[in-house]
Amino acid sequence: MKEFKKDRQLSVRYLKGIGPKRAAAFESIGIHTIEDLFFFFPRRYEDRSHFSSLAEVIVDDFITIKGTVVAKGIRPTRSIKIFELVVDDGNGRIHCLFFNQPYLMNTFAIDDTVVLFGKVELYKKKLQLNSPEYEILKDDSEVTVHTGRIVPIYPLTEGLTQRSLRKSMKTLIEEYADTVEEIFPPVIMQRHYLLRRKEAFQNIHFPENNFLLERAHFRIVFEEFFEFECKVAQQIKDRSAIKNCFSIKTNEKAHSMFLSALDFSLTKSQEKAIKEIEDDFLKSYPMNRILQGDVGSGKTIIAAFALFLVAHHAFQGAFLIPTEILAEQHYSTVSKLFTALGVSFALLTGNTPPDKKKAIIAQVSKGEINVLMGTHALIQKEVTFSKLGLVIIDEQHKFGVEQREHLLEQTVRPHLLVMTATPIPRTLGLVLYGDLEVSTLRELPFGERGVKTYWITKKKEADVFLKVKEKMREGDQAYIIFPLVEETEKSDLAAATEEYERLKRTVFHEFNVGLVHGRMKKEKKSSVMEQFRAGKIHLLISTTVIEVGIDNPNASIIIIEHAERFGLSQLHQMRGRVGRGKKESFCFLFGEPTTENGKKRLRLMTKTNDGFKIAEEDLYLRGPGDFLGTRQSGLPQFRLADIVRDAETLRLAKKEAFQAVNEGIT
Ligand code: ADP
Ligand code: MG
Repeated sequence: MKEFKKDRQLSVRYLKGIGPKRAAAFESIGIHTIEDLFFFFPRRYEDRSHFSSLAEVIVDDFITIKGTVVAKGIRPTRSIKIFELVVDDGNGRIHCLFFNQPYLMNTFAIDDTVVLFGKVELYKKKLQLNSPEYEILKDDSEVTVHTGRIVPIYPLTEGLTQRSLRKSMKTLIEEYADTVEEIFPPVIMQRHYLLRRKEAFQNIHFPENNFLLERAHFRIVFEEFFEFECKVAQQIKDRSAIKNCFSIKTNEKAHSMFLSALDFSLTKSQEKAIKEIEDDFLKSYPMNRILQGDVGSGKTIIAAFALFLVAHHAFQGAFLIPTEILAEQHYSTVSKLFTALGVSFALLTGNTPPDKKKAIIAQVSKGEINVLMGTHALIQKEVTFSKLGLVIIDEQHKFGVEQREHLLEQTVRPHLLVMTATPIPRTLGLVLYGDLEVSTLRELPFGERGVKTYWITKKKEADVFLKVKEKMREGDQAYIIFPLVEETEKSDLAAATEEYERLKRTVFHEFNVGLVHGRMKKEKKSSVMEQFRAGKIHLLISTTVIEVGIDNPNASIIIIEHAERFGLSQLHQMRGRVGRGKKESFCFLFGEPTTENGKKRLRLMTKTNDGFKIAEEDLYLRGPGDFLGTRQSGLPQFRLADIVRDAETLRLAKKEAFQAVNEGIT
């Protein structure tokens, strides 16, 4: 027999039954080749594999039955044509109605064996199915496509019906399954009980039974993760092959010099993170580490330590910070420390006056300044370093990959430390930061934060304000946050401004009330923040600009308006503005969520202060895309795999991929 070589790279048009029109419909959803069709997975399945007996069906149940056509005909009505079919399964009879499809008269013949799927109804004491899914079984084959089995339900698009799609997929599997070749070696197959590739594709589309469906799913997800993790493993391998790198030796003296300049002692996690960085500095390839820790866990000190160590060895460090307010804050945090330690440092932001900026840039290029901190201003072309040994990026998800790469493009690749206050659940971290080593600050310097959190309806506002006033009279400070969906949204901004005017004149007239929002001039913003930090402003009303890490340990109350508009992680971040000192702290969430998810979020906030727990929950409630926010989320798109649902498979595939790459199998 002649072998006919089937080409899976051909257009879907070459599949039997697909004409130009349906090919175009496939094109519109990104399916071009026959190969692509294999990866067009069902959205869900319906188990139509068990045949009911017409003697014992229940009205309103979905049933699958197998029987013989005993009568057919067109029922004349005034408006539409109804085709009626009567089927007998040996135990009883059922009437099937099809609307406006008179041609079905020629499709069915008396004595045909048919399988039907649909919802049982009772009409004039007769059992009835309206527009059931049907199949006519030929004598020679009992293979079913639409009924009588676990049936795939595909995502639909214009020009494709469930029935036509399923038929194409069936043809695909029948004609092309043999071209599916195994890609895993036997050891991997055996270790994970993988279904053979061919069977996996057969069963993901037309499952023989639930067990094989589950194995098919596992196999294909495993493969998808494996391919992804191989790329990650390769990146790591390539990077560790970079031999040219600054080796920065720790020395006891520098280490203790730094510690004695602090007016507190480090937490255990901080010590561990520092040790991890020191070890990385000694390796023969550049560091690539992420430091994650809740707001207030003390990441800035870790950054300061790494920068100091680098400066101490006469290298330079760049510290990239997403906003001016934060940059100024970090700058003042490290100022005392760096001055005491004799590190030359400077701050460069959009606020820096031109001549000062020029001077700083000149000094940096000559290597006279060791640590340059700042916002996006750091990434401009004019800024060149003479010996950049370390790049630190705070809140790294606020920057693009290109911006990060721009700083790293030096003659010798510098060490990289990125920091994030959004705790990333472990599974998500695996795919997002798979190529990064992870340091985690688990505990907070002052112990469990324990901000007392209440979910309150707006009606109780007056009671809350009383509490706020009482605390402010004792010398505490407070925040009220108004969410702006977009900083440019006028109506929201107006609401915040109005509320500011109202509160200032009425409820809080005896206090100093300040306002910051995203559309304010930078100088004005900084000046308000400075006054708040200095305690001159008692109550700060703000849009979400303070989300990213304002540090005022004297603030003990935060009120969040329209809390239902925020995601969990965001709420948690904002709450992190308080409870930073030793004071008893409170968070009041004003919100009237309309969805079950919204209620869950606010309820969870009142129950825990654990950022990791909140992040895990947030990931479950919103899914990875929304959890990260679409912008620059950098999340890889998987076709079947779901990093939350398939977390365990990811772990297995990763291990296997790393081993394969490092042994040079792939
Ligand atoms: P993060 O950047 O993680 O939100 P910061 O580095 O800004 O946190 O630290 C929050 C505050 O805690 C700062 O005022 C910092 O000086 C202080 N801090 C950091 N580490 C310690 C520690 N080990 N003991 C006491 N205070 C600390
Ligand atoms: Mg910080």
